[in-house]
Amino acid sequence: CGVFGVYHVSSAASLSYFGLHALQHRGQEAAGIATSDGQNIKCIKGKGLITEVFNTETINKMDGIHAIGHVRYSTDGGNEIENVQPIMVRAHTGHFGAVHNGQIVNASELKEELENLGSIFQGSSDSEIMLHLIQREAGTFVEKIMGACRKMEGAYAFIIMTKDCMYAVRDKNGLRPLSLAFLEDGYCISSETCAFDIVGAKFIRDIEPGEVVRIASDGVKSFHYTDQVQHKMCAMEYIYFARPDSSIEGINVHTSRRHAGMLLAKSDDVEADIVIGVPDSSLSAAIGYSEASGLPYEIGLIKNRYVGRTFIQPTQKQRERGVRMKLSAISSIVSGKRVVMVDDSIVRGTTSRRIVKLLKDAGATEVHVRIASAPFSSPCFYGVDTSTYEELISARMDVDELCTYINADTLKFMTIEQMREAIPTQDLCVSCFSGQYPTALFSFQKVIKQK
Ligand code: 5GP
Ligand code: SF4
Ligand code: MG
Repeated sequence: CGVFGVYHVSSAASLSYFGLHALQHRGQEAAGIATSDGQNIKCIKGKGLITEVFNTETINKMDGIHAIGHVRYSTDGGNEIENVQPIMVRAHTGHFGAVHNGQIVNASELKEELENLGSIFQGSSDSEIMLHLIQREAGTFVEKIMGACRKMEGAYAFIIMTKDCMYAVRDKNGLRPLSLAFLEDGYCISSETCAFDIVGAKFIRDIEPGEVVRIASDGVKSFHYTDQVQHKMCAMEYIYFARPDSSIEGINVHTSRRHAGMLLAKSDDVEADIVIGVPDSSLSAAIGYSEASGLPYEIGLIKNRYVGRTFIQPTQKQRERGVRMKLSAISSIVSGKRVVMVDDSIVRGTTSRRIVKLLKDAGATEVHVRIASAPFSSPCFYGVDTSTYEELISARMDVDELCTYINADTLKFMTIEQMREAIPTQDLCVSCFSGQYPTALFSFQKVIKQK
């Protein structure tokens, strides 16, 4: 998912619309915006892309100087309308709303506890839990948020808006990104920095793991709800999920992908004629591979821009159809050539198998697949990727079997060490590659296979 917020700006709704448009790659199932004029909160949300849910008329109706917004990609909780965000609460102490990216791993335990205490949940997603927890805590609003944070385990970046305050919250493991910027004479909060550039905001800093940032009329204040923090930024944000023009923890996404491609090439000795990438997420890695190997970079595949990200389609059938509509090989470029095809990751294997066939049908004599990450062999419980072994082809096949399955001439992955070299942050979450998780997993523990 993608979350976005603006505090104390003119045209808060329309700036949020543009910000969410820049975060659309993070989720395409639903979108919503809530605004506040300092007194009243309004919320409009619905299923579909941001451009499908909103038009000029609806945006103009949403007056206000503060806003939060969300683009949804469902991992936990289905695609029902009750799960669409912002999630709003009408409390006697004041209305508020929240947007969430991530996944709370002790959600079912917390939900059961809360229901036993009398809470009633509207939807089936984990995001609502935060709001119920806040309501049960004592103290000032920021103390209530911090109390809630101490109970939730897993991955979360929240933006919470009351009628006159905004709060940016990150989990103590730092799994999901969230950054702060200046905008006009107010502030802007976003999952990715690419949205700052679109609205003309000026980056200040990332929210820290275990931090709650409160923005109010008296300025920005920082609170820490725990000192048990880790810096486990999701590696997949750099590898696939984030936009190349975003920077996470000071590292530009395109630069890390290009570096990954260079490392792939340096440990490779394949004989080939050209290097191509799979648009859009692996083009940076293909450029890096070409640079380090000396092989010419070519455009061998064209993507139809108007088909959404295939993975983000909820069912396997929709996904397969998505791949077919999405990519075409350029025969005049690949015909008669030995092709190195760089892709960012293999999850289910649907894409690679299909693309190798496209390239061979277009006349490529050999296709050498190079993956700019390690084999994705364990589920993710933190809200970005798949959460079962069955879906993961690298959980079922070793590299040789997978090479045969996708019909490539050769197949190579990066090592986890190389990934860390390409993404030189303090530390990373690489659980879906290593099977080692940085948090307790609660009910998800039963999913884990002993290797
Ligand atoms: P698959 O192997 O699942 O058929 O496709 C993997 C490809 O889908 C990757 O190259 C990547 O570009 C794209 N993809 C789409 N969504 C995701 C996602 O959430 N995670 C990962 N790792 N790759 C994704
Ligand atoms: Fe990201 Fe993988 Fe960690 Fe999930 S398990 S948070 S996808 S690195
Ligand atoms: Mg891809």
